[in-house]
Formats: sequence, structure tokens, C-alpha cells
Amino acid sequence: MEFIDLKAQYRALQPSIDARIKKVLDHGQYIMGPEVAELEEKLAAYTGSRHCITCSSGTEALLMSMMALGIGPGDEVITTPFTFAATAEMIVLVGATPVFVDIEDGTCLMDAAIIEAKITPRTKAIMPVSLYGQVCDMDAINALAARHGNIPVIEDAAQSFGASYSGPGGVSRKSCNLSTIGCTSFFPSKPLGCYGDGGALFTNDDALAKALREIRVHGQERRYYHTRVGVGGRMDTLQCAVVLAKLERFDWEIERRLEVGARYTALLGGLVNGARPVTVLADRDSVFAQYTLLVPNREQFQAELASRKVPTAVHYPIPLYRQPAYQALCPAPSFPVSEALSAQVVSLPMHADLDIATQDFIVDACSQACAA
Ligand SMILES: *Cc1c(COP(=O)(O)O)cnc(C)c1O
Repeated sequence: MEFIDLKAQYRALQPSIDARIKKVLDHGQYIMGPEVAELEEKLAAYTGSRHCITCSSGTEALLMSMMALGIGPGDEVITTPFTFAATAEMIVLVGATPVFVDIEDGTCLMDAAIIEAKITPRTKAIMPVSLYGQVCDMDAINALAARHGNIPVIEDAAQSFGASYSGPGGVSRKSCNLSTIGCTSFFPSKPLGCYGDGGALFTNDDALAKALREIRVHGQERRYYHTRVGVGGRMDTLQCAVVLAKLERFDWEIERRLEVGARYTALLGGLVNGARPVTVLADRDSVFAQYTLLVPNREQFQAELASRKVPTAVHYPIPLYRQPAYQALCPAPSFPVSEALSAQVVSLPMHADLDIATQDFIVDACSQACAA
């Protein structure tokens, strides 16, 4: 059994993927070829954003977003400690300081209700993470940012491309188009993946889009004329071609992810001994980059599933304030929810091609593991 079955996806899309790759090999424009602009147009339209700028990874997208906003030494960026390290890593790399805010019980998302206490005159961005494929309370975060002098909001949407959010009484909008800049990743196992590294930035701000396009190619305004310090941050044409082919059935994949996730939740809602699925709130959906349970006796649970050949994974076992590279930033950490839930989270196999029989087998294994 695969945790994420990328081979089944390739079999389903093989003619398109092979043809798209061959086309690039034929025209030979491996860097900034026509597929790059084609993909950016399609992704912008998908999210409803004015601009999409592809880049070399989700990590690079986060770095570029802060470079474009001029964030650097002395600045603070508010984010969650319960995320993949890249989020805080890029804040530190631009010379700024990550300021952590604890998560909500249930969703595992940064708790918008306790952000305000962490805002200072040095706060230069708020960086919510759309963990597991579900976005945070973006309306509340945007309103808070607006009240405090229009602090930019950067969505780390590496796990949530394709997710929808309406907020209380709002219209449905897409992840990546919910804030100043949205950053996503096309790492192979993400909801929309390529066959290597790739990422994208989204914004409705023309000046930021121009800055991001320059930063992507060493701060060049035109060839060999460098108006700012940038990076080598392009996504290569072949990877754009792979994503273009994958877009052909992406709507179907998102529908399947929602169905598989809803079915897991329905079947796993009655788990015993305190085990429960991560909550998805009513005003949004999750594209389930991970389908995650909260299980008090995680080690035993994982061993039981492994004995039935069901692969599991932990996202993430150690919150960032306890990681050797970041703990000095938080001399007296107080994040009780992150602390408790990092010991409980465990993710199950999840992908668009997961069939009902396999899912039933996984659910049965979970029920037995919780009852044991
Ligand atoms: C995957 C991921 C990233 C980094 O994306 P890459 O494309 O692997 O660089 C950043 N943040 C989060 C939350 C992620 O899950």
C-alpha cells in the first residue's frame, strides 16, 4: 500500500505527461520556455489571482515573498510553530525573527484569536500556514492586519493549493488568493505536484508581482541590469509541463480528495480512547495534503497499523520552538496546544486514487488499533 500513490496518477495521465515532456525536449527552451507563462496563466485563472509567478520551490516562494516586501533584520514575522521547518527557516534566512503563535485544538491551525497580543511595531508580516490543506481564519487575520496599519499577510499554502474558503458569510475563494501574497509548492507529494521541485507565488498587487519577477532572476529589470538583490529562483520548463498535464484532471482529483477525506471522517468519527480526526471547519474545505488523526497513544497506534502494512507518517513530531536550530528564539516557550498535539498527530494514506476497499481496510485497522 502506498502512502501517496503517484504511480497510479502517472498511469492515468501518462499520454498527456509524456507528450508534454516530449514537446519541451523538441523545442529545447528548458528555462523560461513557453510552458512557464502558460502555467502561470492557468494557475492565476484557477485561483482568481491577478498574478502568478512560478518559482523553484515552495521554500523559495516564501523567501521571495519576504524579499519583495523588504523584510529583513530587526523585523518580526508572526507564524505558527506547528509547521514544516521551511516556514520559520525563510524568516530567519532574510534576517527577521519568527514570532510564534499557538494553534487551535482540533484544526491544528494558527489561532487567529491570539495573534493580536504578539503584534509589535516591528511586525512586518503575518504568515499563516494552511496546514494539511485547510486555510486558517483568513478573514479574521486580514482584518487584524488591516487594523494594525496594513501588515502584509503571506499565506504558506504549500499544502493547500485547490482548497476553498468562504469565511463567515463570505463567497467561496481559493487558497493562494486570500492575502497579500500566497505561496505554494509543487513538491511531488503535495496536492498539485511536479516531478521534482517547483512552486508559485500569487498576488493581486502589480508592484509586488513586478518585484517578484525581478527577484526570481537575480533582481534583473532587464538583461544584465540588476535593480535589486534577487535569487536564481526559476521553475524549469519541464516541471511546468508536468504540472500543466496534471491540471487536466485536477478538478477531479480535488473532488476525489474531498470525498476520500469526508469518508474517512464519517468512518473514523467514532474512534475510541480519545482518538479523533483533525477538524475541518464548516466555512472552508481541506484538500487533505495529509489526512491526519489525533491519537493519544500514537506509538502503539502506528505499530498496530504497521503490523497490518498500513503506512503512516507524523507531520510534525517536534514543534519548531523545540528544534535545535530555532529553540534559542524561544527561551521560555509556552505553546500548550502545539505541545500536546505534536505528540498525537498521525497521518493516514491519502490520494485521489485511493479505492474504497483499501480505505475500508485502513479504517478497520485504525478502529482495531484504537481499541487495542
Ligand atoms: C512543503 C512545504 C514547504 C516547502 O515546500 P518545498 O516545495 O518543499 O520547498 C513549506 N511550507 C510547508 C507548510 C510545506 O508543507
